[in-house]
This record gives sequence, structure tokens and C-alpha cells, in this order.
Amino acid sequence: QAKSAGRDRYRRFDPDLHARQLARHEIARALPQALERGELFVEYQPMVRADDGELHGVEALARWRHPQHGLLGPAQFIPVAEEHGMIDKVGMFVLRTACAQAGTWKARHPNHPLVMSVNLAPAQADDPALPVLVAGLLAQHGIDPAMLQLEVTESSMMPAAGQAVETLRALARLGVRIAIDDFGTGYANLTNLRSLPVHHLKLARQFVTPPDDELAERVDCVLIATVVRLARSLGLGVIAEGVESQAQARILRRLGCDVFQGYVYGKPQSPEAIDARLSTTSGRGTGKESRQP
Ligand code: C2E
Ligand code: MG
Ligand code: MG
Ligand code: MG
Repeated sequence: QAKSAGRDRYRRFDPDLHARQLARHEIARALPQALERGELFVEYQPMVRADDGELHGVEALARWRHPQHGLLGPAQFIPVAEEHGMIDKVGMFVLRTACAQAGTWKARHPNHPLVMSVNLAPAQADDPALPVLVAGLLAQHGIDPAMLQLEVTESSMMPAAGQAVETLRALARLGVRIAIDDFGTGYANLTNLRSLPVHHLKLARQFVTPPDDELAERVDCVLIATVVRLARSLGLGVIAEGVESQAQARILRRLGCDVFQGYVYGKPQSPEAIDARLSTTSGRGTGKESRQP
């Protein structure tokens, strides 16, 4: 009893903890209005092909322009949305926005097809209605299903997550591509990878961006090579995220990664910035002049 009283007192008087709880509570309260008022928006981070440096696609990343707190990143509100049963709404907003944007780019740059990659929260992957919603968005915006990639975490792929696996199978039957995000940080069941509808592994940033930027000297190289070999034997592509230097890119290319994403190729940015990039690069197959040596 004394112990729990002590804990309560600690809780009440820890200003950091108090501020954090207040913020989460406030975020949960403000999020529904934020959606209605258009305070949420999406930025797009380039993904480039390892072989020629051409733009392969973009990842859609959620942001919130909060009227009092300024710009909030997904780490500040996605977990709160998940906890408070609002991730479906937030996730659908991102998916709808990203699909509309993909349709716009397809119309404006018909000879430069881009993959649109969107994160799926576990609760979204659990929703049996998702494939129908996705099929509707693809049709509405005239998007080739193979140009939409959905990123799920390893935990969504657990056999225990029975409905999620069914939903992902239905999405894969539509022709949508599935990527496992942050691969290597969760509970990947390697034997399951074979039977699951997965097309790409996204290597977790932790392996790709060593704190000292000396990837070559680290054991991470061995881990990456192992993941690449695993992916190859299963017929999957490998996307390396968190690529922050050309030196890292060279090593990752040699290790066999197919696609790179990271600050060295562009931070998450506005659709206008991506559009400008599309306008200055020629389309697929004619982009020799922008190839890297
Ligand atoms: P993620 O899906 O792994 O996205 C990549 C994150 O790494 C992004 O952070 C991106 O800005 C960051 N990043 C990219 N390149 C580099 C780099 O070279 N160096 C470093 N240090 N970081 C890099 P962001 O935008 O803060 O997103 C964080 C996470 O929030 C995402 O991780 C994703 O799990 C989640 N998230 C974002 N948008 C959504 C969404 O619409 N739905 C769901 N469910 N989750 C989302
Ligand atoms: Mg992601
Ligand atoms: Mg990731
Ligand atoms: Mg992540």
C-alpha cells in the first residue's frame, strides 16, 4: 500500500510524465476535429532504384499541422490514434490522399510510373472490409494495383493475426503489393514468409544507418546480406530505408538491395516538390542522362 501510494505521488509530481499524459489526452481529443478541419496532411519520401538511381516511388507519411503545437510527426499521434480506436479514420485519410495523389501524378507524368507506398496499421490490416475499400480507390483514381504498395509490420503477419493474413491475401489478389516494414525488428516468423502474400522486405533503418556511419565495418553488413539472401530465395525484393550517405548506398548496392530510401535521396516532402522532380527527370527507359556512374 505504501508502495502504491509512493507510486501515485511520484506520478502526480513528475512534471515530464504529467506533460506527456496531458499531451496524449489532448491529442486524442483533438484528432477527430483535426481530420474534419484538414489539419492532417501527407508528405512523400522518394524511393529510388538501386541500379540507376531513378525515382521508383514514394512513401506516404502522415503529418499534422496542429494550430497550437505546430508540426507533429506520426510518432506523436499515430500511436494515440491506435490506442483510441481512431487509426481507421487516420489511416483511410492517408490512403485516400495517397491514392488521389497517385492518380494525379499518373495523369501528369504518364511515362513515369511511380509506386505509391502507404503504411497500414495492424488494426487496418485486421479489417475484412479493407480490400473492397482499396479496390474502390484504385478504380476511382485509375491506379494500376501493382503501383500501390502497402507496408505492414511483422506483427500483422503473425499466424495468430488470422484475419489480417486473410485481408492481406485478398489485397494481394487485387494485385496490390505488400511490403514488410522495419523488417528485422519484430517477430518475423521466417517459415511463414513463404506462404504469406509478401513482395518486398523493407530493411529496418537500424541496420542501414549505423550511428557512426561505418556500415562496412559493422556486423550489420552480415545481417543485411543474410536478409537479401533470404529475400532472393523467396523471390522478394529488398528496400533499404534510412540511407543517409552515398557510402552506405554503395555498400547496400553491393549487398544486393533493390530500392533505396533515405535522406540522401530526399526527405519526406510536399507533393509539389515530387512533382517538380518528375517534371525535370525523363520517364522510365529514357533516363540515361540522370544515371549514376
Ligand atoms: P516508417 O514507415 O518506417 O517510415 C520511415 C520513417 O523514417 C519516416 O519517419 C521517415 O521520415 C524516416 N526516414 C526516412 N529516411 C530517413 C533517413 O535517411 N534517416 C533517418 N534518420 N530517418 C529517415 P516519420 O515520417 O517520422 O514516420 C515515422 C513512422 O510513423 C513511420 O515509420 C510509420 O511507421 C509511421 N507512420 C507514418 N505515417 C503513417 C500512416 O499513415 N499510417 C501508419 N499506420 N503509420 C504511419
Ligand atoms: Mg513505412
Ligand atoms: Mg520503415
Ligand atoms: Mg517505422
